[in-house]
Amino acid sequence: MLVCHTIKALKKYLSKKGAKSVGFVPTMGALHDAHISLINASKKENDLTVGSIFVNPQQFNNQSDLDKYPRSVVADLDKLELAQCDVVFVPSVEEMYPQKVEKEFDFGTLSVVMEAAHRPGHFNGVAIVIERFFEIINPTRAYFGEKDFQQLAVIKALVKQLELPVEIVSCPILRESNGLAMSSRNERLSEVEKKQAGAINRTLQQVAAQKNKSVEALKKYFLDEMSQYENFKVEYFEIADAETLKPADSLDETKKYIAFTAVNVGEVRLIDNMPIID
Ligand code: AMP
Repeated sequence: MLVCHTIKALKKYLSKKGAKSVGFVPTMGALHDAHISLINASKKENDLTVGSIFVNPQQFNNQSDLDKYPRSVVADLDKLELAQCDVVFVPSVEEMYPQKVEKEFDFGTLSVVMEAAHRPGHFNGVAIVIERFFEIINPTRAYFGEKDFQQLAVIKALVKQLELPVEIVSCPILRESNGLAMSSRNERLSEVEKKQAGAINRTLQQVAAQKNKSVEALKKYFLDEMSQYENFKVEYFEIADAETLKPADSLDETKKYIAFTAVNVGEVRLIDNMPIID
């Protein structure tokens, strides 16, 4: 596995290989099994797989969140090597952004609801970095996890808006044995918090099992369950249209819906989602 720190080295490698299809898996490092599942999905469908490790400052609206983001590049490279990733791009901030990018994207509803409302500028930063990666790598396919469902929708909108020649592949959520969605941020939870955080997914499942009730009743149920944990703070809970991600006040049986939540467990912000009507 080759590790490239510069665009020049990566482009040289890619042009030398001349692969028919290139799969790309962007990550912010602190890798776990879910990241590796994306690498495996790419390896199955492409001649060559590029992974990246880059903690993108543009997508953090909170400096302390950026500072606290877990970093473990040496261990990450071992995991990628074991997964037989072909090449890993690990650029510096200066390499990615020689000049500050000031672009402002508009993704309609996606730019204003849920994660967008609670993390101003977050998706704009995500779109900027992904456009830049696509420009450098020119992948055939790029792989994203459904854990970050709104991000996936934003990337699809970005590709459509800019008419980029890349196929976006969505990959299922991987979970710990207690249901907690795998996340690099889980490393910052204590053992007790990790155990408690299983309640987020359990409660989403209970919500899905009661989908005949009103949205208001489902919201109340979720918030009541979460309020049993002193150290949990729910930022939002919404049941949204699976296509538009517009939060719904009532459910139309002919449409698909997904429940979305962000819960702070102690100091750690966790997100999860679950289909309600599939
Ligand atoms: P991150 O390093 O958190 O930016 O994540 C890199 C990619 O891995 C994104 O496409 C995420 O959606 C995906 N990912 C992270 N956690 C999970 C998970 N538990 N299941 C599926 N995909 C995930």
